[in-house]
Amino acid sequence: MDWRTHVISNQIPEHSNYNLLASDAALTEALERTAAWSSEQLTAFGGRLGREETFALADAANRNPPKLNAFDARGHRIDSVEFHPAWHAVLGMYREEGLVSLPFREQRPGRWPAWAAGFYMHAQIEYGTLCPATMTQASIPLLQKEPMLWEALREKLFSDRYDPSDVPIAKKGSIWLGMGITEKQGGSDVRANTTVAVPVGKGGRGGEYKLRGHKWFFSAPMCDAHLVVARAVDTDSYACFYVPRFRPDGSKNAVLVQRLKDKVGNRSNSSGEVEFQDAYGLLMGEEGRGIPAIIEMATYTRLNCVLGSAALLRQALVQALSYTRQRRAFGKKLIEHGLMRAVLVDLALESEAALALGMRLAEAFEHDADDRHLAWKRIMTPAAKFWVCKRSVELTGEAMEVLGGNGYVDQGIVARLFKEAPVNSIWEGSGNVMCLDVVRALSREAHLVEALISDLTEMSDGCSILTEELSHLVKLIRLNPEMLEPSARILSQQLVLIAQGCLLHRYSTPKISEVFIRTRLDDRRSGRVAGAIDVTDVDVDAVLSRALAM
Ligand SMILES: Cc1cc2nc3c(=O)[nH]c(=O)nc-3n(C[C@H](O)[C@H](O)[C@H](O)COP(=O)(O)OP(=O)(O)OC[C@H]3O[C@@H](n4cnc5c(N)ncnc54)[C@H](O)[C@@H]3O)c2cc1C
Repeated sequence: MDWRTHVISNQIPEHSNYNLLASDAALTEALERTAAWSSEQLTAFGGRLGREETFALADAANRNPPKLNAFDARGHRIDSVEFHPAWHAVLGMYREEGLVSLPFREQRPGRWPAWAAGFYMHAQIEYGTLCPATMTQASIPLLQKEPMLWEALREKLFSDRYDPSDVPIAKKGSIWLGMGITEKQGGSDVRANTTVAVPVGKGGRGGEYKLRGHKWFFSAPMCDAHLVVARAVDTDSYACFYVPRFRPDGSKNAVLVQRLKDKVGNRSNSSGEVEFQDAYGLLMGEEGRGIPAIIEMATYTRLNCVLGSAALLRQALVQALSYTRQRRAFGKKLIEHGLMRAVLVDLALESEAALALGMRLAEAFEHDADDRHLAWKRIMTPAAKFWVCKRSVELTGEAMEVLGGNGYVDQGIVARLFKEAPVNSIWEGSGNVMCLDVVRALSREAHLVEALISDLTEMSDGCSILTEELSHLVKLIRLNPEMLEPSARILSQQLVLIAQGCLLHRYSTPKISEVFIRTRLDDRRSGRVAGAIDVTDVDVDAVLSRALAM
């Protein structure tokens, strides 16, 4: 008997089977401008990422988090992490696309923006896999400074062959690297680290040390090596150590994985707690230079946080637009309701501004011998890390609400984006630490401050709101640096909004840039929550169709 209480209608499927690049006008334009040579490959990648099957793999990787197998059946320690096949499939996609080392291996101009576009697309579909990928990429500039290590690892870092085997590096086709800094008693305050390194021979750069201590967060413990900060006892100073998973004699190094964290989001990725029981390590760089080395690595990982958060925001917007274009309420589509239009416009503006900033930073990383680019890299990276990561926490929540109750159900990508977002704001330097870093750069790097101001002044030409806001900001920056700390969040926020306004003014359409600049920098009634903007005179259809081609 066909007995039904109701017919299912007006339920909208998750948006999939689309091309992440072709449907994104702002990303397409940015790539055409900076790295047109990469468009063909990235369009194909965007198509693969957008398939329903890839969404399903990403979902499976997060629904089946990694498991720690600390011991084998007979009680020997193996400290092995077991992943669902979907994790390998998704991480393999990224590696095989050549993205892990692209900006270091490729010589063509535009290599950083090309990589950034690939990272941004992958992050929209599955973010946990990008943790080991990011740490591996960020370790490259540090390893390049150690000729012996670089010689041994270069090919395996540059390889596009995915090799998840847990064997010594010599037997591997490609490798992953992680980083170990945070300890129980402190993460931001690296000088509170208690892990010690004792030289085995005479010590010094490239020399062997034994590491004893712990790390409270140690993501991707199955990586083939980690770069670890410890205090070298011979010189009583912090240093950075290369700690491989296997010792040179082929035995497993004494890095004991105590357990894996049970995290709010980022579930596909493994984040461990470890102890070093006289673990084998090699000193990288000079003793006493461990903290600057880690700061250099973190500059790279922070760029990835900016792009990653822009990506989470972008995917939330995509799902919100697709849903509201189809779902009906009160006799019309949700997207036709005036107040919903204000919310969607706000999300679209924020998403494009986040992407514009991420792509500009990627360009800066490519040209960091030039003061203007270096100024963006040094000053704007922490500011952007603070702002974009925070905005994605709020706005993935707003996008969730756009889907109503369906958004809050933990089946599908929107809930996952919401749970993923806060991690970017916390790791690699939390919000306050980023703002303090902005202040530090402003007070110590006078020539970069001048280079940034002159770049923003040039970019703001023709827009009176930007010019005026920039002159207020310059006055604030030139205050006594000691007075800047309590207002470091205000300062970082203004710096980013002006920079985003300048980027949109230069590269986007006036329909986007004018509304962004007015609602973020001029109309004081705007914006304590998403959608609290006046869109009376805005060409909403133009903004929303630019945001997602369907
Ligand atoms: C999922 C996940 C994975 C991680 N993976 C790794 C990893 O692989 N390797 C690794 O080394 N670490 C890792 N971390 C750790 C992460 O980098 C730290 O949690 C982070 O740096 C903050 O350190 P903390 O947790 O000790 O917080 P704390 O340093 O105690 O900071 C707590 C709060 O105080 C604020 N604060 C600190 N100092 C100041 C100040 N001077 N003024 C004002 N406010 C301040 C911070 O912004 C923060 O909001 C991971 C974290 C997470 C969540």
